[in-house]
Amino acid sequence: MTAKMPSLDKLLAGNSAPGQRGTVWLVGAGPGAVDLLTLRALRLIEQAEIVVYDRLVGPDILALIPAGALSIDVGKTPGFHGMKQSQISQLLVDLALAGRQVVRLKGGDPFIFGRGGEEMVCLQQAGVTCHIVPGITAATGCAAASGIPLTHRDLAQSVRFVTGHGRDGKPQLDWESLRDARQTLVFYMGLTWCDALSEQLISFGRDAQTPVAIVERGTRDDQRTLIARLDQLAETVRTYQPQSPSLLIVGDVVRLYRPDLPQAAATSTLTPRASKAAIAS
Ligand code: SAH
Repeated sequence: MTAKMPSLDKLLAGNSAPGQRGTVWLVGAGPGAVDLLTLRALRLIEQAEIVVYDRLVGPDILALIPAGALSIDVGKTPGFHGMKQSQISQLLVDLALAGRQVVRLKGGDPFIFGRGGEEMVCLQQAGVTCHIVPGITAATGCAAASGIPLTHRDLAQSVRFVTGHGRDGKPQLDWESLRDARQTLVFYMGLTWCDALSEQLISFGRDAQTPVAIVERGTRDDQRTLIARLDQLAETVRTYQPQSPSLLIVGDVVRLYRPDLPQAAATSTLTPRASKAAIAS
């Protein structure tokens, strides 16, 4: 936990308006590039008193937090769970009950595999007002940054966002429903179990030659995209060792991948400061 100022204890103890509850904003920070933040997220971050953030929120976005605000890192590293989910939810409740306005900043979209739903329910049960600010989720961010359309009239009529990480680790999925060649599959948290994912998809009838994109650190300056066949997915992961965060896109749309696509973030002229001026005028 990194505290700048004021201290967490002080914020939990003192209520400037006794009896009045604070509010929690569950804010999506997008997949990493700072200029993929929504304007609403930007405004909330720049005015924040307390920001409780995750591991996936990039340094450029954290740099927008005002110096006088308290930033609390509750990041969970894969395989090493620092602060438990129940403790994070409780922290949000305690801060709000102490009358604080809290920005809960989460990678991507808070309602897509981010456990934002669990935090919202906890807050509601404690009688705390909670607002949701959507963010660009990793699937759409990584797809755009690789030139891979998730749907395409000729190649995929639907797309599924799937977690590659079951409640106890190994994915527990309805494999039968994932076999359709005209459905793009996007696996979040799929790296660890990529062997099981490709084996099961193939054994349930998905073509072994289906192309897969592994998008590592999507939308960031150091994004890397690897292309493999479904039956060579595990081998490709072993050889090139992509790290978290990485996303798997499975389906014929991956054939449209554009290796030459410049990262928009590198060429964008819209900076958060510029956008702020634009809103104000
Ligand atoms: N709420 C987030 C997802 C949280 S689950 C969202 O909407 O994007 C965490 C997983 O998201 C990671 O394990 C990875 O699979 C994926 N992910 C998040 N950011 C990513 C990025 N920049 N590049 C690739 N994958 C990413």
